[in-house]
Amino acid sequence: MTLQSSHQQTTVNRGVTQVCAGRPTADGAGVRLTRVIGTPEISMLDPFLLLDIFESDNPADYIGGFPAHPHRGFETVTYMLAGRMEHQDSVGNKGVIESGAVQWMTAGSGIIHSEMPKQQAGLLKGIQLWVNLPARLKMSAPAYREFDATRIAIDKPRAGVTGKVIAGATLDGAVGPVNDVVTQPILIDLELAGGADFLQPIPHTHNSFIYVIDGEVSVIAGGNKTSVPARSIGILSNGEQVQLAGKAKHNRLLLAAALKLDEPVARGGPFVMNTKAEILAAFRDYSRGTLVAAGDRHGNRSGD
Ligand code: MN
Repeated sequence: MTLQSSHQQTTVNRGVTQVCAGRPTADGAGVRLTRVIGTPEISMLDPFLLLDIFESDNPADYIGGFPAHPHRGFETVTYMLAGRMEHQDSVGNKGVIESGAVQWMTAGSGIIHSEMPKQQAGLLKGIQLWVNLPARLKMSAPAYREFDATRIAIDKPRAGVTGKVIAGATLDGAVGPVNDVVTQPILIDLELAGGADFLQPIPHTHNSFIYVIDGEVSVIAGGNKTSVPARSIGILSNGEQVQLAGKAKHNRLLLAAALKLDEPVARGGPFVMNTKAEILAAFRDYSRGTLVAAGDRHGNRSGD
């Protein structure tokens, strides 16, 4: 090995393998949204199972909300950019996810919950991300983490760069409040002025993407710049870090990364397990009223 080649052992930047706009769709009780992961183009990005973006100032697009529905086998992350969403579940948890707040919910063995807009008018904007659980934790107890805007770590490494760190740690040492999730996620809401750039380490073990909310963002790798426009996802290749630069005057994006599970995935609507038999069991438990072990009162004789 020559001195020259040893000097080339530099850190590998992640590039872009796919750029894709989402698909307009509707879910819940007629909520209009854009599905970005969980589509024919991007069925999943292990461990990310689904990414939905909802954004409307027309109440008809969102007022129906997501009435009571079940989940089993994964985690849902709700991050509100504008407006308020009320959350209520089968085991007595209730709260309002305000603008700038995040809820990271482990459905585990099963919850039944509703997610309803807590407003009659105005802009409702946010994201929901589904993150898979490893087989050994799919039937774990449900858990909630909720952090309002004041609890989210702020990273301002220099002028023109503001990171709201929900999960993971930045180079400057900002650490997000969500720090006990098995897939070791990184989730950063990043604002970049035109020309400003941001470098984020991402472990080799992780898959990652950016979703551009506003503006246009360059991903810089190996001497190339790949542009990801607003309302599009850029799936990142493997590497040790990602280098991002703002192309428009104002740019805002989500940067997400999490540990690849490399396990079989069986999906059935609101349930995500490892086998088809486990999906059928989830539907059976739901129809029998036994999905929610902790909160289940069907057949419970405690009142006798
Ligand atoms: Mn839900």
